[in-house]
Amino acid sequence: MPIDHHHFYIGGDRVAPGTGHRIQVHAAATGELVGSVPEAHPADVDAAVAAARAAFDDPSGWRQWTPQARAETLTRFAAALKERAPEIARLVSVQNGMPISLAGLLEGTAPSALLRYYAAVAAAKTGDDRRPGLFGGHAVVVPEPVGVVAAIVPWNVPQGITFMKLAPALAAGCSVVLKPSPETVLDAYQVAEAAAEAGLPAGLLNIVPGGAETGRYLVGHPGVDKVSFTGSTATGRSIAETCGRLLRPVSLELGGKSAAVVLDDADLSGVMDRFFRATLLNNGQVCWLGTRILAPRSRYAELVDAVTEMARALKVGDPLDPATQLGPLVSERQRDRVESYIAKGVSDGARLTVGGGRPAWADRGWYVDATVFADVDNRSAIAQEEIFGPVLSVIPYTDEDEALALANDSDYGLGGSVWTTDADRGLDFARRVQTGSIGVNSYANDPVAPFGGRKASGLGYELGPEGLAQYQVLKSIYVDQQV
Ligand code: NAD
Repeated sequence: MPIDHHHFYIGGDRVAPGTGHRIQVHAAATGELVGSVPEAHPADVDAAVAAARAAFDDPSGWRQWTPQARAETLTRFAAALKERAPEIARLVSVQNGMPISLAGLLEGTAPSALLRYYAAVAAAKTGDDRRPGLFGGHAVVVPEPVGVVAAIVPWNVPQGITFMKLAPALAAGCSVVLKPSPETVLDAYQVAEAAAEAGLPAGLLNIVPGGAETGRYLVGHPGVDKVSFTGSTATGRSIAETCGRLLRPVSLELGGKSAAVVLDDADLSGVMDRFFRATLLNNGQVCWLGTRILAPRSRYAELVDAVTEMARALKVGDPLDPATQLGPLVSERQRDRVESYIAKGVSDGARLTVGGGRPAWADRGWYVDATVFADVDNRSAIAQEEIFGPVLSVIPYTDEDEALALANDSDYGLGGSVWTTDADRGLDFARRVQTGSIGVNSYANDPVAPFGGRKASGLGYELGPEGLAQYQVLKSIYVDQQV
């Protein structure tokens, strides 16, 4: 039975859409229609921004509450989300093909954990930051909420990414207009229900489903104070241009093409599950995955075999099956894109060792087999451009200096990993890679530490206390004695 919604969540209420346009949502595994929601047009976005503005500008509103009082409400919000976690995970898995074992964690558990984390981070800050003046008197430095936040998220990890923005923004005292991706919108309605049940004050969270046009209108809206975007580099650049013109603060979490560097002493035999998570998680649809595998020539054949075997052994299937490791891609468009890169890899002369097509049993849904190319030139398209699917390139290197040069020879700088039996050697190598985050013998971003991209991978940070600071502006008050 398709799930059809007929309203937006704006100003704490169910609000009827201004037009009859609708977004149809399809299951990644079957292509079947699974639901529909109204599409937000400018008048709907105006209403959402006005509600967020009113909530933020209310002289006794949320921003004036103590961080401790805000934390209590956010904790209730977390509890209401947790109750809905299994359904949220299921909806995401159906819509974008994320294996349910992963969706339970990233989409079910992480959102409420992030709310609790940021409630605690904000509540832990007590007292003024008072600094003795260089020339007498003193200065008080006060963080204030930045204002109305436009949060725009992609479809690949819709809830995890939503709460990387929503949790710190609300904890900081901001109000938010959230624009989910049209591919994954049904889960956003669960968030609205949880917010209402938790008694989140009206207007703090407003949700406007829509595509590029809705997003573009929201980014340039005069009532918005800050834009927080996660998505492709191309879209990020166009948002940055608008924000540059408006002098509007913006944070951008964009694409990646990270390196998984296998050093010559690595023993992957006992850690293949971690290597899988660092390279092929979520059907290859994660921004920080190490999709360029750098392998030493001295062990090249053995490592190509190991990566090929890992890909061949994956359980590909229904994303709702708890045993599934690789589900379908999000949409036909995404499958076309991935298949065109596979064709490009072949025509550019890379050696296909496994995959390259669709599973024989998959007569519907957007499945692509896990695919590995060996003998890949790091300057070729499949090694330089983000594919966003289950396609790995294994690139040979001669020594550590060459491995580092290849790892850094990318327009992107988002994630990555180093594999070695010597953790100190791994740490030393990791320090030299031009990237925002990197793992030694695994990759798992931890919410306590900032996550952000270098180069074409973005601007600013999410997670950690630094993630809260993205939603704050600083005021300095100079205090002097009267004479
Ligand atoms: P996308 O850029 O096409 O869309 C992302 C969001 O922006 C969607 O909600 C979309 O509707 C909206 N949008 C599109 N055009 C817009 C415009 N001109 N103005 C405002 N909003 C607009 O990206 P996608 O295909 O949905 O997501 C995949 C991309 O996201 C990949 O490149 C991936 O690497 C990136 N990503 C980055 C991170 C990170 O943290 N760095 C995390 C996840 C995904």
